[in-house]
Amino acid sequence: MPAVPLVTREDALRKIEEQFQLDLPMLKSLSQRFQELYDYGLANHGADMQMIPSFVTGVPNGSEKGTYLALDLGGTNLRVCEVTLDGKGGFTMKQEKYKVSDALKQGPARNLFDYMAQSVDTFLTDFGTASTDDELLLGFTFSFPVEQTALARGHLIHWTKGFNCPDAPGKDVVGLLQESLDRKHIKVRCNALVNDTVGALLAHAYHSNGALISAIFGTGTNGAYIEDISKIKKLKMAEGSIKHMVVNTEWGGFDDDRKALPVTVFDNRLDRESIRPRNHVFEKMISGMYLGELTRHVLVHLIDSLVLFDGFSSVVMNTQNGFDTAYMSAIEADKEEASSPQSATRKVLVETMQIPADKVSAEDVDTVRRVCKIVGTRAARLSSVAIAATLVQTNNVQSRGDGPDEGVKVGMDGSVIEFYPHFEERMREGLRDLLGEDAERRVKIGLAKDGSGVGAALGALQAAKQEASGHR
Ligand code: BGC
Ligand code: MG
Repeated sequence: MPAVPLVTREDALRKIEEQFQLDLPMLKSLSQRFQELYDYGLANHGADMQMIPSFVTGVPNGSEKGTYLALDLGGTNLRVCEVTLDGKGGFTMKQEKYKVSDALKQGPARNLFDYMAQSVDTFLTDFGTASTDDELLLGFTFSFPVEQTALARGHLIHWTKGFNCPDAPGKDVVGLLQESLDRKHIKVRCNALVNDTVGALLAHAYHSNGALISAIFGTGTNGAYIEDISKIKKLKMAEGSIKHMVVNTEWGGFDDDRKALPVTVFDNRLDRESIRPRNHVFEKMISGMYLGELTRHVLVHLIDSLVLFDGFSSVVMNTQNGFDTAYMSAIEADKEEASSPQSATRKVLVETMQIPADKVSAEDVDTVRRVCKIVGTRAARLSSVAIAATLVQTNNVQSRGDGPDEGVKVGMDGSVIEFYPHFEERMREGLRDLLGEDAERRVKIGLAKDGSGVGAALGALQAAKQEASGHR
């Protein structure tokens, strides 16, 4: 006999919907809080949303040329690239990906940095074309919060996204990398350290002749933008010719004290079991490393309420991170009838998640789709808050000039913006709610694919330029 549900399916879903809903007053108060925390972070060191000066004081326009190495340590892979910029906004790139094991992610820093140096060496042996007589310049895309003190110097503040080498925080990551390279006598000099958002901004500016804002929606989330130097109050710089600097916001840490964010019990559960509880709460509501896990918590709750699968679960479903964000993408793209054996949702549930096939009804398939949509929509609407706040911060809600309005170029990268169905559309809806249609239309989103690779190369080029002109 089927179990008697504790609540009706509709009631259970409605409760979840209510908790995840972001109505206009909520969106507005979040956006207000964003503004306050932007200002706070620009004036103070050690804020949760750090607003890190990148020491990048100019962006490319597409005319840049040269060959540089790039090393990209992000969320999922380590990449080594050799990038040749053609001076016409284009480039060619050779790249190789290397796996980073959990042991390396969470062991002594030296092992991780030695592995990176080793990967550079292997890459150069296998693929390098540039003459090895000269020292090669390398841009390092390091996608974690770093307190930067120069373009090629920065101390890790803390890890995110499942990395946790305990002895690394506080250390200069360029120093660590350079020591590892030097120990192996690899003739490569790391002259630029860029966050992936900064890389995406540089890459998009190179490609589209200027860009103002960049955002990553991938394993983690973050944004960068070009700020007036006078507004970066915590940066004590001599008066001079520098007018602007790219700021890495680290918006993953937005409202970590949870004054405004409407966290649900599901968010709290995910957070408690994460590597860094109470940290990067906003990121945990938005990015690819967490959306699947959040959805899993909701599904398990519905199973426990005897609403889903007749109360049956599975080992995979009960395992932390057992439900990948990529499954949500497949489910949200699923257009089959809920009762069809061809439904991607059903396949994920039965084949991947190992829920007994005879327990998955058509209603269950529908419910799972709705849950993914609820979680995915909240992520996109929260993302719109960050973009809207950055438009306001840069005084770009309306056109500023008299000439034709070119809009605001925003470079984006990451698996969620690239592969998650309807993410951009839902984010745009949030932008319309917050700022109106005209402002939303001004936002020109371009995928800065490979931003971390090309961006690091452009960082190395920019660093060489700044070195030559005496600004480091
Ligand atoms: C890191 C950022 C990074 C973002 C996207 C976050 O977890 O703190 O530095 O830009 O992920 O990769
Ligand atoms: Mg990346």
